[in-house]
Amino acid sequence: MERWWLKRLFRMQSAPTTRLYLQDDYCFESEAMVIAIRVNEIAFDKTCYYPGGGGQPADDGYIILPGGEEIKVKSAHVDKNQVIWHVCESILGEGLLHQVVGLRINRERRITLASYHTVLHVLNSITLRDYGGWITGVQIGEDHSRIDFNLEDFSAAMIPELEDKVNTVLRSGHRLRSYYIAEDEFHRREDLLRTLDVKPPVIDGQVRVVEIEGFDAQACGGTHVDNTADVGHFTIYRTDNKGRKNKRLYVRLRK
Ligand SMILES: [Zn+2]
Repeated sequence: MERWWLKRLFRMQSAPTTRLYLQDDYCFESEAMVIAIRVNEIAFDKTCYYPGGGGQPADDGYIILPGGEEIKVKSAHVDKNQVIWHVCESILGEGLLHQVVGLRINRERRITLASYHTVLHVLNSITLRDYGGWITGVQIGEDHSRIDFNLEDFSAAMIPELEDKVNTVLRSGHRLRSYYIAEDEFHRREDLLRTLDVKPPVIDGQVRVVEIEGFDAQACGGTHVDNTADVGHFTIYRTDNKGRKNKRLYVRLRK
């Protein structure tokens, strides 16, 4: 009997978490069933929490128990079995297993991170198209973000030019949508790549493509706003040299 339960728990832990944020970037709340608990970490059958990746930090927020009690979620991460673990501030009791609870993410923070993520698509497309710069690193934040490009011929004159080109695309109000293509097709589509260093996530043999309609499409598993007009005004407020070829741009958005 005991072994049967252990096997069942293991199988449940191994089941990939359904990622609701991939189906709807504006899914900030959901119900979910608890499938596994380990000390202060908890996994559900599905979740609206982004587990971090591609330079975008994980969501934070709350779990709402059936009685109304709230448990603070500090972060989230995904394991090799594609299970998303939610890291809580407190130790969790085994009694939660198999219960249906509410999930709520920090909505304002997510929208800010998704806005930065979206503008980085616009920036990285223009940088590759017009200056041949590939991404070598990204760190998205709430106050600002930074992005590194492999750019040999970078001059100060490029900053206002880049800002202008990015803001023109933002103001044009392009809609965003996502869809999936088979991994085989992805390997034939070099146009969907913006970095040579990191492979995009492949889930069940599929790669997610995020398209800014009428402007760009690239492989991405992150979260975005649904129109470039919602991003705000883009500025580059600082640049650093990171090695002979690498340029680091610090960027900021203002509504
Ligand atoms: Zn993206």
